[in-house]
Amino acid sequence: MSETTFEQVGRVLREHQHFAVLGHVRPDGDALGSQLALALSLQQLGKEVRVWNEDGMLEKYSFLPRAELLTKPPSTADDVDVAIALDTAIQNRLGTALAAVRSAKIWINIDHHISNPGYGDLVIVDPSAPATGEIIFRLIKSQGLPFNHDIAENLFAAISTDTGSFQYPKTSARTFEIAAELVRAGGLDVGQLSQQLYENYPRRRLELLRELLRTMHFIEGGRAATFSLGLKTAAELGVLPEDNEGLIDHLRAIRGVIVAVFFEELADGKVRVSMRSKSDAVDVCAICQKFGGGGHTAAAGARVRGTLAEVEEKVLEEIGDVLKSNS
Ligand code: 5GP
Ligand code: MN
Repeated sequence: MSETTFEQVGRVLREHQHFAVLGHVRPDGDALGSQLALALSLQQLGKEVRVWNEDGMLEKYSFLPRAELLTKPPSTADDVDVAIALDTAIQNRLGTALAAVRSAKIWINIDHHISNPGYGDLVIVDPSAPATGEIIFRLIKSQGLPFNHDIAENLFAAISTDTGSFQYPKTSARTFEIAAELVRAGGLDVGQLSQQLYENYPRRRLELLRELLRTMHFIEGGRAATFSLGLKTAAELGVLPEDNEGLIDHLRAIRGVIVAVFFEELADGKVRVSMRSKSDAVDVCAICQKFGGGGHTAAAGARVRGTLAEVEEKVLEEIGDVLKSNS
């Protein structure tokens, strides 16, 4: 845990009036749930709160309580005292939301990515937390900030999605204790919430998985598995960026696979690389940092310039080297 305390953050939250709560581009459940939860708590404190994400609210998370608060940022800067970046490893990953908060006098950075360099005036980066939602819960509880059912549901969604339904390695006793308190104090219906999170996908997502599995291949004797998505296939299927969240877990779930990689061709001449590791000995954040990306030791990503074939070759060579030095 870095230097800033929850008390210092709590003081800034109480002392100012105009806030913008931001999250990373191509948001996931942790970013969106954490943004809404903190924003709702601040609203209850009587604050003016903007909740912005470059991509706005995603269709798949639009069931989250008060989802309508989360919008795309305006194209011109707004009047904001405090900008709060959540779940965002580097400030640039705030995308177009950055320009909208140019007037902010204070920056708060709350995150759990080990690669976060600690930008901002008040910094709470806790890589031991499996989700930013867990840190937001601890902030709210420790500072006696407003808490209710809607906040609990957003935080539960954040933590559930970023832990892969309480499975990934950083899931701890504390995570379950927090989840229990969210369920109890927030009066949550876990079955219904999980159905909305995990059993409500558009058919398109499975059609995408079918195409990805056609491209599946293995290297290093099955210790790394990959699949890829080209722009043409994505267009044919009408894929939305949010459709592929979690599909990489199918590769990770294969016996013997240590590293899973998903390559996605982007329209800007880059390839989005998504990586997962099942071994403490293989740090995919370090691998992704070599390509200008970052993330967590077990889940990381990068955007790499080049064609799909070029990026696949470069990245798989690096993974091959890491796996060979580990065998
Ligand atoms: P995902 O594979 O789910 O997109 O991302 C996994 C993790 O890696 C996330 O925590 C995300 O923040 C991080 N990540 C993904 N892509 C990038 C990237 O291009 N740059 C950086 N710095 N981190 C990334
Ligand atoms: Mn996260």
